Amino acid sequence: ASENKGSRYNQHRLRMQEKELEELKDLMLKTKKELEEFQSQLQSDLNNLGSHVQKMSFDALRYHKLVKENRDLYNTVQDLKGNIRVYCRIRPCLNGESSNVIDFIGEDGSLVMSDPLKTQKDGRKAFHFNRVFGPTASQADIFEEIQPLIRSVMDGYNVCIFAYGQTGSGKTYTMSGPSAGSFRDVGINYLALNYLFQISSQRKETIKYEIYIQMVEIYNEQVRDLLSEEAVIKYPFPYEIRSCNENGLNLPDATLQPVKSSTDVLSLMKLGEVNRAVSSTALNNRSSRSHSVLTVHVHCKDKSGSTTRNCLHLVDLAGSERVDKSQVTGERLKETQYINKSLACLGDVITALAQKNSYIPFRNSKLTLLLQDSLGGHAKTLMFAHVSPEEVSFGETVSTLKFAQRASTVELGVARVN
Ligand code: ADP
Ligand code: MG
Repeated sequence: ASENKGSRYNQHRLRMQEKELEELKDLMLKTKKELEEFQSQLQSDLNNLGSHVQKMSFDALRYHKLVKENRDLYNTVQDLKGNIRVYCRIRPCLNGESSNVIDFIGEDGSLVMSDPLKTQKDGRKAFHFNRVFGPTASQADIFEEIQPLIRSVMDGYNVCIFAYGQTGSGKTYTMSGPSAGSFRDVGINYLALNYLFQISSQRKETIKYEIYIQMVEIYNEQVRDLLSEEAVIKYPFPYEIRSCNENGLNLPDATLQPVKSSTDVLSLMKLGEVNRAVSSTALNNRSSRSHSVLTVHVHCKDKSGSTTRNCLHLVDLAGSERVDKSQVTGERLKETQYINKSLACLGDVITALAQKNSYIPFRNSKLTLLLQDSLGGHAKTLMFAHVSPEEVSFGETVSTLKFAQRASTVELGVARVN
């Protein structure tokens, strides 16, 4: 009987174990199913992530494409405004001056001046430019107007900006400011470079920019490096002008300085001014008898690896005043002839470009030869005609405005010179 009892007990245990085993099997199946579900969820999450990443990179591409399209559109709008623009700036009266020559400055770029001596019938002369800046215009007002052109240098355009006018009319003030090397009322040169650095940093994710500058002076048709480190530069030291080499330089012998910040620029401009002044002592006031050319080279490399090189030329021209050739001799006469010739050549080139002539007389002067690659075609040209409000300067003022009008007439489609 005890044996029977024992075997019943064993059978009972066996059944219990079988039951437990059954339950474990169920549990295992359940877990396996959960695991499979989890795995398939994971797989679908992964798939979603993949398409998300794909969409994100697609969006990024589309974004860059839109940015580029927007930039191109912006440049097209600027192109429609004309590749040659002529502005007039009238400086304020300085200490002790008084003036009654400006009759009218229009929002549309018209300017009416009147002859204080009324030598002609009513002595009034009318002009028409892209815009006229009166005596109260600030450096910021000027820069605001030209900012789009400066920006286009970063988008593949070459740009030339000229300051034209008689000595004392404010050319250097517009380009450099009242004192070289100081931040007070800084001019176009500094503001332009500062703006280029800003754009470069805004676009750094997609485009890598390198900026270099050269600064030369053209005196008596000879080119001199103003950024050379030597304290005294033997003058004259002509540099040859060649057509652009593989680095986009047509003055490969002139110092090329990389610049990374506005401070670099300011100190180089100061060096340029000092070098310019050194030679001025030999010949009085040389700075107004020579053209100074600050060239900004912009090298750009985008994500696709394509590279472009463009330049911005900032030119402070020699004084345009007419010198009575019967009153000057020797060195001064030679200087005068060279200045007259090169300014006339510049006028001819800009007029020929504005009239879209097939022949452009670049080779007639060193200045136009040096700037050849940045004048005409796709390039943008901007001229600031500077005039002084002094009544004694009226004759020069009219001659400056006529020169400027000749360059802008065709572009504007109006010839309103009296
Ligand atoms: P330029 O280079 O044509 O010979 P400058 O730029 O040297 O003439 O200007 C002659 C003088 O007039 C300088 O003392 C300059 O600071 C001052 N000047 C010129 N333009 C302005 C202006 N827009 N506002 C204030 N002062 C000016
Ligand atoms: Mg000057």
